[in-house]
Amino acid sequence: MARRPFVAGNWKMNMTQGEAATLLGELIPKLQAIRDVDVAVCPPFTAIGSTRERLHGTPVMLGAQNLHVAEKDGKLFHAGAYTGEISARMLADAGVSWVILGHSERRQFFGETDASINRKARACYEVGLKPIICVGETLADREAGNTAKVIEAQIRGCLDGLPQDRMAESVIAYEPVWAIGTGKVATPEQVQEVHAQIRALLVTLFNDRVSQAVRIQYGGSVKAGNAKALFALPDVDGGLIGGAALLAEEFAEIIQGARMAK
Ligand code: PGA
Repeated sequence: MARRPFVAGNWKMNMTQGEAATLLGELIPKLQAIRDVDVAVCPPFTAIGSTRERLHGTPVMLGAQNLHVAEKDGKLFHAGAYTGEISARMLADAGVSWVILGHSERRQFFGETDASINRKARACYEVGLKPIICVGETLADREAGNTAKVIEAQIRGCLDGLPQDRMAESVIAYEPVWAIGTGKVATPEQVQEVHAQIRALLVTLFNDRVSQAVRIQYGGSVKAGNAKALFALPDVDGGLIGGAALLAEEFAEIIQGARMAK
């Protein structure tokens, strides 16, 4: 099955509304002609509304970087007394289509776990959002030879019990922690090995159809110069882009790389 490449920009804690307007003003004209690639930008919450307006009428989709959901007795709560938090229902209402879940920075700094990511994915499904579920090993994991074990545990924990049909339209991002924002990109061999492992796990946990449908993005120091070689790998279906997504020219070239790679 031919999977459509998907390139998403994770702006992290960057971009005021004014800065976002400048970036989008440069980026959108470069993307008018994009074909055969899905593109999303994931602004901070405060720039979601203004970004939505600017994306109107363009092929670029809107994403968010996190959400909150509470669970009690197996029921999910999309509203309530959770000061400072934003629910899946609010994001859907704000015009968001995708939500990044379990980014390594959230795992590292905000106590995100495979169980909380699983809960957030279920919250997405309840309101029609699609998750981009992030997994990835640390440098210590890799050096200890534990990459495959860590990835398997994360995938099993994050995807536990998710419904097949929703899973098939979800996205997984493989982001080796040691490659994020460091300029150290994983080699094509390292990337393909983990992506193939994830796809094989999807057969075990779901079935062949789901495994072939799920798009698996690579993330970690993707730049215009290395995007095409990474995206050409058989089990890589685009990328989750951090730093380079803040630069219009660079991000547009990465998207072009995804188009040319397949
Ligand atoms: P980077 O970040 O492209 O700046 O390495 C990727 C990510 O964190 O999603």
